[in-house]
Amino acid sequence: MGASVGPMYSGMLNELGDLLVDEIDIDSDVVDDVDADIVEAIRGAVRLRAAADHVLARLAAQAERVGVAKRSGMRTRELLRCNGMTPTAAIRCLRVGRALPELPTLRRHSAHGFLSGEHVHAVVEGVTHVSIRTHSPIGSSAMAEVESTLVRHAIAGAGPAELMRLARAAAIAATPPRDSVPAAEDATLNEMAWHQSEDGRLQGTFDLDVLTGERLISAIDAASRPRPMPDGSQDDRSAQRRRADAFGQLIECAVRASSADATVGVPKTEVVMTVPIGDPMPIRLNWLGPLTERGALLVGCDTSLTRVDVDSNGAPIAVSETRRLFTGAVRKAIVVRDRCCVKCGAPASWTDCHHIIHHTDGGPTTIDNGCLLCRSCHTAVHHQGWEVFMGPDRHPRLIPPASVDPTRTPQPAYHRRTMRLDPDVRRHAA
Ligand SMILES: [Zn+2]
Ligand SMILES: [Zn+2]
Repeated sequence: MGASVGPMYSGMLNELGDLLVDEIDIDSDVVDDVDADIVEAIRGAVRLRAAADHVLARLAAQAERVGVAKRSGMRTRELLRCNGMTPTAAIRCLRVGRALPELPTLRRHSAHGFLSGEHVHAVVEGVTHVSIRTHSPIGSSAMAEVESTLVRHAIAGAGPAELMRLARAAAIAATPPRDSVPAAEDATLNEMAWHQSEDGRLQGTFDLDVLTGERLISAIDAASRPRPMPDGSQDDRSAQRRRADAFGQLIECAVRASSADATVGVPKTEVVMTVPIGDPMPIRLNWLGPLTERGALLVGCDTSLTRVDVDSNGAPIAVSETRRLFTGAVRKAIVVRDRCCVKCGAPASWTDCHHIIHHTDGGPTTIDNGCLLCRSCHTAVHHQGWEVFMGPDRHPRLIPPASVDPTRTPQPAYHRRTMRLDPDVRRHAA
Protein backbone atom coordinates (compact mmCIF):
# COMPACT_ATOMS: atom_id res chain seq x y z
CA MET A 1 0.00 0.00 0.00
CA GLY A 2 1.61 3.28 -1.12
CA ALA A 3 1.97 6.35 1.09
CA SER A 4 -0.65 8.28 -0.88
CA VAL A 5 -3.35 5.71 -0.08
CA GLY A 6 -2.85 6.03 3.69
CA PRO A 7 -4.85 9.18 4.47
CA MET A 8 -7.77 8.05 2.31
CA TYR A 9 -7.82 4.72 4.08
CA SER A 10 -7.82 6.24 7.56
CA GLY A 11 -10.68 8.53 6.58
CA MET A 12 -12.55 5.56 5.17
CA LEU A 13 -12.27 3.60 8.44
CA ASN A 14 -13.89 6.43 10.33
CA GLU A 15 -16.56 6.85 7.65
CA LEU A 16 -17.35 3.14 7.86
CA GLY A 17 -17.73 3.47 11.62
CA ASP A 18 -20.03 6.49 11.22
CA LEU A 19 -22.06 4.72 8.58
CA LEU A 20 -22.61 1.70 10.81
CA VAL A 21 -23.52 3.85 13.79
CA ASP A 22 -25.86 6.11 11.79
CA GLU A 23 -27.68 3.18 10.21
CA ILE A 24 -28.47 1.45 13.49
CA ASP A 25 -31.30 2.75 15.62
CA ILE A 26 -30.29 2.31 19.26
CA ASP A 27 -33.88 1.72 20.39
CA SER A 28 -35.02 -0.94 17.94
CA ASP A 29 -33.78 -4.34 16.82
CA VAL A 30 -30.95 -4.47 14.32
CA VAL A 31 -32.99 -6.62 11.91
CA ASP A 32 -36.56 -7.95 11.76
CA ASP A 33 -37.57 -11.06 13.67
CA VAL A 34 -36.76 -13.39 10.78
CA ASP A 35 -34.46 -16.30 11.61
CA ALA A 36 -32.56 -16.21 8.33
CA ASP A 37 -32.05 -12.43 8.57
CA ILE A 38 -30.77 -12.66 12.13
CA VAL A 39 -28.31 -15.42 11.26
CA GLU A 40 -27.08 -13.58 8.20
CA ALA A 41 -26.67 -10.39 10.18
CA ILE A 42 -24.67 -12.29 12.83
CA ARG A 43 -22.40 -13.71 10.11
CA GLY A 44 -21.89 -10.27 8.65
CA ALA A 45 -21.11 -8.70 12.03
CA VAL A 46 -18.64 -11.50 12.89
CA ARG A 47 -16.82 -11.00 9.59
CA LEU A 48 -16.80 -7.25 10.08
CA ARG A 49 -15.32 -7.69 13.53
CA ALA A 50 -12.69 -10.14 12.22
CA ALA A 51 -11.71 -7.76 9.41
CA ALA A 52 -11.57 -4.84 11.86
CA ASP A 53 -9.34 -6.87 14.20
CA HIS A 54 -7.04 -7.58 11.27
CA VAL A 55 -6.81 -3.91 10.33
CA LEU A 56 -6.16 -3.02 13.97
CA ALA A 57 -3.35 -5.58 14.27
CA ARG A 58 -1.67 -4.23 11.15
CA LEU A 59 -2.08 -0.64 12.32
CA ALA A 60 -0.55 -1.57 15.68
CA ALA A 61 2.48 -3.13 14.01
CA GLN A 62 2.81 -0.15 11.69
CA ALA A 63 2.61 2.29 14.60
CA GLU A 64 5.39 0.36 16.27
CA ARG A 65 7.54 0.19 13.13
CA VAL A 66 7.18 3.91 12.43
CA GLY A 67 7.70 4.84 16.10
CA VAL A 68 4.45 6.77 16.63
CA ALA A 69 4.18 5.90 20.31
CA LYS A 70 7.87 6.44 21.03
CA ARG A 71 7.61 10.03 19.82
CA SER A 72 4.95 10.65 22.47
CA GLY A 73 7.08 8.96 25.15
CA MET A 74 5.05 5.78 25.44
CA ARG A 75 4.96 2.20 24.28
CA THR A 76 2.77 1.06 21.41
CA ARG A 77 0.50 -0.94 23.67
CA GLU A 78 -0.05 2.15 25.81
CA LEU A 79 -0.98 4.05 22.66
CA LEU A 80 -3.57 1.36 21.92
CA ARG A 81 -4.89 1.54 25.47
CA CYS A 82 -5.12 5.32 25.33
CA ASN A 83 -7.33 4.89 22.28
CA GLY A 84 -9.80 2.63 23.99
CA MET A 85 -8.42 -0.92 23.89
CA THR A 86 -8.27 -3.09 27.01
CA PRO A 87 -4.73 -4.01 28.18
CA THR A 88 -5.09 -7.67 27.15
CA ALA A 89 -6.56 -6.86 23.75
CA ALA A 90 -3.78 -4.32 23.11
CA ILE A 91 -1.04 -6.87 23.86
CA ARG A 92 -2.70 -9.53 21.68
CA CYS A 93 -3.30 -7.13 18.83
CA LEU A 94 0.33 -6.05 18.79
CA ARG A 95 1.57 -9.63 18.97
CA VAL A 96 -0.61 -10.59 15.99
CA GLY A 97 0.43 -7.50 14.03
CA ARG A 98 4.13 -8.29 14.50
CA ALA A 99 3.70 -11.94 13.48
CA LEU A 100 1.40 -11.53 10.44
CA PRO A 101 4.09 -10.51 7.88
CA GLU A 102 5.76 -13.89 8.41
CA LEU A 103 2.58 -15.95 8.29
CA PRO A 104 1.17 -15.59 4.75
CA THR A 105 -1.60 -18.22 5.00
CA LEU A 106 -2.89 -16.80 8.25
CA ARG A 107 -2.59 -13.24 6.92
CA ARG A 108 -4.73 -14.06 3.88
CA HIS A 109 -7.55 -15.63 5.90
CA SER A 110 -7.38 -12.93 8.52
CA ALA A 111 -7.48 -10.11 5.95
CA HIS A 112 -10.60 -11.57 4.37
CA GLY A 113 -12.35 -11.71 7.73
CA PHE A 114 -12.58 -15.51 7.67
CA LEU A 115 -10.97 -15.96 11.09
CA SER A 116 -11.86 -14.11 14.27
CA GLY A 117 -9.21 -12.10 16.11
CA GLU A 118 -9.19 -14.78 18.84
CA HIS A 119 -8.51 -17.54 16.30
CA VAL A 120 -5.80 -15.53 14.59
CA HIS A 121 -4.15 -14.86 17.95
CA ALA A 122 -4.34 -18.58 18.83
CA VAL A 123 -2.64 -19.54 15.55
CA VAL A 124 0.10 -16.96 16.19
CA GLU A 125 0.59 -18.32 19.71
CA GLY A 126 0.56 -21.91 18.43
CA VAL A 127 3.15 -21.29 15.70
CA THR A 128 5.33 -19.33 18.14
CA HIS A 129 5.09 -22.18 20.66
CA VAL A 130 6.21 -24.79 18.11
CA SER A 131 8.93 -22.48 16.81
CA ILE A 132 10.43 -21.98 20.30
CA ARG A 133 10.17 -25.64 21.29
CA THR A 134 11.68 -26.97 18.08
CA HIS A 135 14.18 -24.15 17.49
CA SER A 136 12.82 -23.67 13.96
CA PRO A 137 12.44 -20.05 12.87
CA ILE A 138 9.01 -18.80 11.84
CA GLY A 139 9.12 -18.61 8.05
CA SER A 140 10.90 -21.98 7.71
CA SER A 141 9.09 -24.61 5.68
CA ALA A 142 8.40 -26.72 8.79
CA MET A 143 6.73 -23.73 10.42
CA ALA A 144 4.75 -22.97 7.25
CA GLU A 145 3.32 -26.46 7.53
CA VAL A 146 2.37 -25.94 11.19
CA GLU A 147 0.81 -22.62 10.23
CA SER A 148 -1.37 -24.05 7.49
CA THR A 149 -2.41 -27.01 9.67
CA LEU A 150 -3.55 -24.67 12.44
CA VAL A 151 -5.34 -22.37 9.99
CA ARG A 152 -7.11 -25.40 8.45
CA HIS A 153 -8.29 -26.55 11.88
CA ALA A 154 -9.39 -23.03 12.80
CA ILE A 155 -11.50 -22.81 9.64
CA ALA A 156 -12.92 -26.26 10.38
CA GLY A 157 -14.18 -24.95 13.72
CA ALA A 158 -11.45 -25.71 16.28
CA GLY A 159 -11.50 -23.16 19.12
CA PRO A 160 -8.43 -21.29 20.43
CA ALA A 161 -7.85 -23.84 23.23
CA GLU A 162 -8.00 -26.71 20.76
CA LEU A 163 -5.54 -24.91 18.47
CA MET A 164 -3.07 -24.59 21.36
CA ARG A 165 -3.47 -28.31 22.09
CA LEU A 166 -2.73 -29.10 18.45
CA ALA A 167 0.31 -26.83 18.54
CA ARG A 168 1.63 -28.54 21.66
CA ALA A 169 1.12 -31.92 20.05
CA ALA A 170 2.95 -30.72 16.92
CA ALA A 171 5.84 -29.43 19.05
CA ILE A 172 6.14 -32.75 20.86
CA ALA A 173 5.99 -34.70 17.58
CA ALA A 174 8.63 -32.47 16.01
CA THR A 175 11.08 -32.54 18.92
CA PRO A 176 13.87 -35.04 18.18
CA PRO A 177 13.99 -37.86 20.75
CA ARG A 178 17.58 -36.99 21.75
CA ASP A 179 16.22 -33.76 23.24
CA SER A 180 14.75 -36.28 25.69
CA VAL A 181 12.24 -34.19 27.66
CA PRO A 182 9.12 -33.35 25.63
CA ALA A 183 7.59 -29.93 26.31
CA ALA A 184 4.63 -31.45 28.11
CA GLU A 185 6.97 -32.95 30.71
CA ASP A 186 9.52 -30.16 30.86
CA ALA A 187 9.18 -28.41 34.22
CA THR A 188 11.76 -25.78 33.19
CA LEU A 189 9.08 -24.25 30.94
CA ASN A 190 6.62 -23.82 33.82
CA GLU A 191 5.19 -20.37 34.33
CA MET A 192 2.68 -18.67 36.53
CA ALA A 193 1.58 -15.09 36.02
CA TRP A 194 -1.03 -12.90 37.59
CA HIS A 195 -2.39 -9.39 37.45
CA GLN A 196 -5.02 -7.43 39.30
CA SER A 197 -8.15 -6.81 37.27
CA GLU A 198 -9.91 -3.44 37.17
CA ASP A 199 -12.43 -4.51 39.84
CA GLY A 200 -9.56 -5.38 42.21
CA ARG A 201 -9.65 -9.15 41.80
CA LEU A 202 -6.58 -11.26 41.15
CA GLN A 203 -6.56 -13.03 37.81
CA GLY A 204 -3.86 -15.25 36.47
CA THR A 205 -2.68 -17.96 34.17
CA PHE A 206 -0.41 -20.90 34.59
CA ASP A 207 1.49 -23.13 32.20
CA LEU A 208 2.57 -26.37 33.86
CA ASP A 209 4.20 -29.63 32.93
CA VAL A 210 1.86 -32.62 33.00
CA LEU A 211 3.13 -34.00 36.29
CA THR A 212 2.68 -30.75 38.19
CA GLY A 213 -0.64 -30.33 36.42
CA GLU A 214 -1.70 -33.80 37.43
CA ARG A 215 -0.81 -33.10 41.06
CA LEU A 216 -2.73 -29.83 40.94
CA ILE A 217 -5.83 -31.44 39.45
CA SER A 218 -5.86 -34.39 41.82
CA ALA A 219 -5.36 -32.15 44.85
CA ILE A 220 -8.08 -29.73 43.74
CA ASP A 221 -10.37 -32.59 42.77
CA ALA A 222 -10.11 -34.17 46.20
CA ALA A 223 -10.68 -30.86 47.98
CA SER A 224 -13.49 -29.64 45.74
CA ARG A 225 -16.03 -32.39 46.16
CA PRO A 226 -19.53 -31.08 46.92
CA ARG A 227 -20.28 -30.78 50.61
CA PRO A 228 -23.88 -30.78 51.83
CA MET A 229 -25.57 -27.78 53.42
CA PRO A 230 -26.48 -28.00 57.12
CA ASP A 231 -30.05 -29.06 56.26
CA GLY A 232 -28.76 -31.92 54.13
CA SER A 233 -29.53 -30.18 50.83
CA GLN A 234 -27.03 -30.21 48.00
CA ASP A 235 -23.96 -28.03 47.74
CA ASP A 236 -25.16 -25.28 45.41
CA ARG A 237 -21.69 -23.98 44.51
CA SER A 238 -20.77 -24.40 40.85
CA ALA A 239 -17.89 -26.74 39.98
CA GLN A 240 -15.72 -23.71 39.12
CA ARG A 241 -16.51 -22.08 42.45
CA ARG A 242 -15.75 -25.32 44.33
CA ARG A 243 -12.41 -25.62 42.54
CA ALA A 244 -11.51 -22.02 43.39
CA ASP A 245 -12.49 -22.57 47.04
CA ALA A 246 -10.40 -25.74 47.09
CA PHE A 247 -7.42 -23.86 45.63
CA GLY A 248 -7.61 -21.28 48.44
CA GLN A 249 -7.91 -24.10 50.93
CA LEU A 250 -4.85 -25.91 49.59
CA ILE A 251 -2.69 -22.80 49.85
CA GLU A 252 -3.80 -22.44 53.44
CA CYS A 253 -3.14 -26.13 54.18
CA ALA A 254 0.30 -25.97 52.57
CA VAL A 255 1.47 -23.11 54.75
CA ARG A 256 -0.04 -24.73 57.82
CA ALA A 257 1.87 -27.93 57.19
CA SER A 258 5.18 -26.09 57.46
CA SER A 259 4.23 -24.09 60.55
CA ALA A 260 5.57 -24.88 64.01
CA ASP A 261 2.05 -25.36 65.27
CA ALA A 262 1.28 -27.83 62.45
CA THR A 263 -0.57 -30.33 64.61
CA VAL A 264 -3.38 -27.91 65.29
CA GLY A 265 -3.15 -26.49 61.81
CA VAL A 266 -2.34 -22.88 62.54
CA PRO A 267 -2.05 -21.08 59.20
CA LYS A 268 0.99 -18.98 58.51
CA THR A 269 -0.41 -16.84 55.72
CA GLU A 270 0.39 -13.36 56.80
CA VAL A 271 -1.66 -10.34 55.91
CA VAL A 272 -0.56 -6.75 56.35
CA MET A 273 -3.49 -4.38 56.60
CA THR A 274 -3.19 -0.60 56.47
CA VAL A 275 -5.86 1.26 58.41
CA PRO A 276 -6.14 5.01 57.74
CA ILE A 277 -7.00 6.81 60.97
CA GLY A 278 -9.56 9.66 60.79
CA ASP A 279 -9.71 9.48 57.01
CA PRO A 280 -12.34 8.08 54.62
CA MET A 281 -9.59 6.22 52.70
CA PRO A 282 -10.36 2.51 52.67
CA ILE A 283 -8.49 -0.15 54.60
CA ARG A 284 -5.82 -1.60 52.32
CA LEU A 285 -4.08 -4.92 51.87
CA ASN A 286 -0.37 -4.84 51.19
CA TRP A 287 -0.50 -6.49 47.77
CA LEU A 288 -3.99 -6.07 46.44
CA GLY A 289 -5.27 -2.77 47.77
CA PRO A 290 -8.66 -1.67 49.11
CA LEU A 291 -10.76 -3.89 51.31
CA THR A 292 -14.25 -3.33 52.73
CA GLU A 293 -14.76 -3.23 56.47
CA ARG A 294 -16.62 -6.53 56.21
CA GLY A 295 -13.68 -8.07 54.42
CA ALA A 296 -11.38 -6.72 57.12
CA LEU A 297 -13.47 -8.43 59.81
CA LEU A 298 -13.10 -11.74 58.00
CA VAL A 299 -9.35 -11.29 57.67
CA GLY A 300 -9.10 -10.25 61.33
CA CYS A 301 -10.94 -13.37 62.52
CA ASP A 302 -8.16 -15.86 62.01
CA THR A 303 -5.16 -14.73 60.01
CA SER A 304 -1.65 -13.73 61.04
CA LEU A 305 -2.38 -10.06 60.86
CA THR A 306 -0.16 -7.03 61.12
CA ARG A 307 -2.13 -3.85 61.38
CA VAL A 308 -0.47 -0.58 60.39
CA ASP A 309 -2.35 2.59 61.30
CA VAL A 310 -1.50 5.49 59.01
CA ASP A 311 -2.32 9.21 59.00
CA SER A 312 -3.98 11.07 56.13
CA ASN A 313 -0.64 11.33 54.31
CA GLY A 314 -0.16 7.58 54.48
CA ALA A 315 2.64 7.84 57.06
CA PRO A 316 2.55 5.09 59.71
CA ILE A 317 1.41 6.11 63.20
CA ALA A 318 1.40 2.73 64.89
CA VAL A 319 2.04 -0.88 64.05
CA SER A 320 0.56 -3.87 65.84
CA GLU A 321 2.36 -7.05 66.79
CA THR A 322 1.93 -9.69 64.11
CA ARG A 323 -0.44 -12.03 65.81
CA ARG A 324 -2.95 -14.69 65.31
CA LEU A 325 -5.79 -14.81 67.74
CA PHE A 326 -6.72 -18.46 68.15
CA THR A 327 -3.54 -20.41 68.80
CA GLY A 328 -2.23 -23.24 70.90
CA ALA A 329 -4.41 -24.69 73.64
CA VAL A 330 -7.54 -22.68 72.83
CA ARG A 331 -7.52 -23.80 69.23
CA LYS A 332 -6.85 -27.42 70.25
CA ALA A 333 -9.84 -27.35 72.61
CA ILE A 334 -12.08 -25.94 69.88
CA VAL A 335 -10.91 -28.68 67.48
CA VAL A 336 -11.79 -31.30 70.13
CA ARG A 337 -15.27 -29.81 70.49
CA ASP A 338 -16.13 -29.04 66.83
CA ARG A 339 -14.02 -31.75 65.09
CA CYS A 340 -14.62 -30.21 61.65
CA CYS A 341 -16.16 -27.18 59.93
CA VAL A 342 -19.37 -26.70 61.91
CA LYS A 343 -21.27 -25.81 58.73
CA CYS A 344 -20.13 -28.33 56.11
CA GLY A 345 -17.94 -30.90 57.86
CA ALA A 346 -14.66 -30.08 56.06
CA PRO A 347 -11.66 -31.43 58.04
CA ALA A 348 -10.44 -29.37 61.03
CA SER A 349 -7.06 -28.81 59.38
CA TRP A 350 -8.85 -26.79 56.68
CA THR A 351 -10.63 -24.49 59.06
CA ASP A 352 -10.32 -20.97 60.42
CA CYS A 353 -11.39 -20.19 63.95
CA HIS A 354 -14.25 -17.72 63.69
CA HIS A 355 -14.95 -15.20 66.46
CA ILE A 356 -18.66 -15.69 67.20
CA ILE A 357 -18.76 -12.14 68.60
CA HIS A 358 -16.32 -10.16 66.44
CA HIS A 359 -12.98 -9.39 67.95
CA THR A 360 -13.44 -5.72 67.04
CA ASP A 361 -16.78 -5.71 68.91
CA GLY A 362 -14.97 -6.84 72.04
CA GLY A 363 -15.48 -10.59 71.49
CA PRO A 364 -12.88 -12.48 73.54
CA THR A 365 -10.54 -15.11 72.07
CA THR A 366 -11.91 -17.95 74.17
CA ILE A 367 -13.17 -21.48 73.58
CA ASP A 368 -16.79 -20.37 73.95
CA ASN A 369 -16.40 -17.51 71.46
CA GLY A 370 -14.68 -19.53 68.73
CA CYS A 371 -15.83 -22.14 66.27
CA LEU A 372 -14.32 -23.94 63.29
CA LEU A 373 -15.35 -22.83 59.79
CA CYS A 374 -13.67 -23.77 56.52
CA ARG A 375 -12.79 -20.82 54.28
CA SER A 376 -15.91 -20.94 52.08
CA CYS A 377 -18.25 -21.38 55.08
CA HIS A 378 -16.35 -18.64 56.93
CA THR A 379 -17.06 -16.34 53.99
CA ALA A 380 -20.73 -17.41 54.07
CA VAL A 381 -20.93 -16.43 57.75
CA HIS A 382 -19.28 -13.04 57.26
CA HIS A 383 -20.85 -12.11 53.90
CA GLN A 384 -23.93 -14.20 53.17
CA GLY A 385 -26.12 -13.92 56.23
CA TRP A 386 -25.31 -17.15 58.07
CA GLU A 387 -25.12 -16.58 61.85
CA VAL A 388 -23.42 -18.53 64.60
CA PHE A 389 -24.31 -18.49 68.30
CA MET A 390 -23.21 -20.59 71.25
CA GLY A 391 -25.92 -22.93 72.54
CA PRO A 392 -26.67 -23.58 76.23
CA ASP A 393 -24.76 -26.89 75.95
CA ARG A 394 -21.67 -24.86 74.84
CA HIS A 395 -21.78 -26.21 71.31
CA PRO A 396 -22.13 -23.75 68.41
CA ARG A 397 -25.38 -23.50 66.40
CA LEU A 398 -25.87 -22.09 62.91
CA ILE A 399 -28.78 -19.94 61.78
CA PRO A 400 -29.28 -20.02 58.01
CA PRO A 401 -30.16 -16.77 56.20
CA ALA A 402 -33.89 -16.31 55.43
CA SER A 403 -33.13 -16.91 51.75
CA VAL A 404 -32.09 -20.47 52.65
CA ASP A 405 -34.58 -21.18 55.47
CA PRO A 406 -37.43 -18.65 55.92
CA THR A 407 -38.03 -19.92 59.50
CA ARG A 408 -34.34 -19.43 60.30
CA THR A 409 -34.30 -22.56 62.48
CA PRO A 410 -30.98 -23.06 64.27
CA GLN A 411 -28.94 -26.07 63.12
CA PRO A 412 -26.51 -27.98 65.31
CA ALA A 413 -22.81 -28.11 64.44
CA TYR A 414 -21.97 -30.56 61.66
CA HIS A 415 -20.69 -33.53 63.65
CA ARG A 416 -23.65 -33.31 66.04
CA ARG A 417 -26.25 -33.34 63.28
CA THR A 418 -25.96 -37.06 62.67
CA MET A 419 -25.90 -37.87 66.38
CA ARG A 420 -29.45 -36.58 66.88
CA LEU A 421 -28.61 -35.77 70.50
CA ASP A 422 -28.87 -32.08 70.10
CA PRO A 423 -31.59 -30.58 72.32
CA ASP A 424 -32.76 -28.28 69.47
CA VAL A 425 -33.18 -31.25 67.15
CA ARG A 426 -35.05 -33.26 69.80
CA ARG A 427 -37.40 -30.37 70.47
CA HIS A 428 -38.19 -30.06 66.75
CA ALA A 429 -38.72 -33.81 66.46
CA ALA A 430 -41.11 -33.91 69.44
ZN1 LIG B 1 -17.33 -25.47 55.70
ZN1 LIG C 1 -15.03 -15.02 61.27
